[in-house]
Amino acid sequence: MKALTWRGPRDVRVENVPDPKLEADTDAIIRVTSSGICGSDLHLYEVLAPFLDPGDILGHEPMGVVEETGSAVADIAPGDRVVVPFNIACGHCWMCERRLFAQCETTQVREHGSGAALFGYTKLYGSVPGAQAEYLRVPQAQFGPIKVPEGPPDEQFVYLSDVLPTAWQAVEYADVPKGGTVAVFGLGPIGQMAARIALHHGFRAIGVDRVPERLNMAERHGVRTIDAAQRDDVADAVRELTDGRGADSVIDAVGMEAHGSPVAELGQKIAGVLPDAVAEPLMSKAGIDRLSALYECIDSVRRAGTISLSGVYGGMADPMPMLTLFDKGVRIAMGQAHVKRWIPDLLPLVGHESDPLGVRDLTTHHLPLDEAPNAYDIFQRKVDGAIKILLEP
Ligand code: NAD
Ligand code: ZN
Ligand code: ZN
Repeated sequence: MKALTWRGPRDVRVENVPDPKLEADTDAIIRVTSSGICGSDLHLYEVLAPFLDPGDILGHEPMGVVEETGSAVADIAPGDRVVVPFNIACGHCWMCERRLFAQCETTQVREHGSGAALFGYTKLYGSVPGAQAEYLRVPQAQFGPIKVPEGPPDEQFVYLSDVLPTAWQAVEYADVPKGGTVAVFGLGPIGQMAARIALHHGFRAIGVDRVPERLNMAERHGVRTIDAAQRDDVADAVRELTDGRGADSVIDAVGMEAHGSPVAELGQKIAGVLPDAVAEPLMSKAGIDRLSALYECIDSVRRAGTISLSGVYGGMADPMPMLTLFDKGVRIAMGQAHVKRWIPDLLPLVGHESDPLGVRDLTTHHLPLDEAPNAYDIFQRKVDGAIKILLEP
């Protein structure tokens, strides 16, 4: 089959690789019909290069058609249309019983101190081959895949794999008070949907980014925006819109920003040259630079407010302004989305004729798998109007 493989920093290629096969009775094989490219893939594309091996298959946002199932998989059958959550959970361990699926104890990657295994996230998360490919082996398929109805196009459902549950959890963790305001930093796919979900819940939403198309998309959906390219005092701009106090809640949907940053350059330099033990502290030192959005969030939240972090920050010792956080009395909640936890809330909304979250207005590009290298390039550089790209193997 054809699959997108990582070959080096900013070097991904579509190559022929062996077809996946059932390896356990809890596996399923799906034929991938759509597969998103995520801001998290951009971390692998460049910043996290030292953790990748050439040939790693990327991608964790798939949907498709079940081809084959292991003998322990009862709820899905060949021919079913399914969306696959990006984290791999068993559904029955101590964590899963508490619906903390991103911390599944059956699939967690102990040697790296990581939570549940993820598709396409290298040895950091279990070396499970990713979904930007024609076929995908789905472990723990007795629990993971979400059946969706035939009929509507993929783009109506595919974001249940990651973008929608991540954005939903971001708003839950933001704990916005009734009638309150949430400021969303970063208007990529996660920030777009988080802002729309906040509005759907009846909160006020302010969106911050510096890419015109992303600001325009948010405004189209009723979000007040602040253009960070026009203002270097973004936190003051947030206070101007919130009675001088700051936002009740802030969502960081940025995380490590790679392109053109010193971090990216450092990542490139140390990729493949230094062993992990040496590379890791260097990466975390460089964390200072990737924290810019987080500092804006800390400045923009009101006293005794909440910060919800869905953006992913690397580094083992990223410095945090602890005194400021303590003095302001800020609560912080973060982590990977417990995807299946939020599906009962989301499925009726994405399936609804009126499209209350506007999921049909998120995909800016539908591209064949062969064009994936160019897709990564334009998504990372935020050009050609790329906001969310779906690969269609
Ligand atoms: P993206 O790269 O498309 O979006 C990031 C946006 O942040 C961009 O639009 C960029 O212009 C903007 N930005 C950069 N610096 C900024 C600043 N200082 N102020 C305001 N905006 C700024 O990525 P995405 O797909 O939307 O993902 C966003 C983040 O969420 C990534 O870090 C990704 O890894 C993370 N993520 C987390 C989970 C989870 O389970 N927690 C799941 C998916 C993605
Ligand atoms: Zn993703
Ligand atoms: Zn589990």
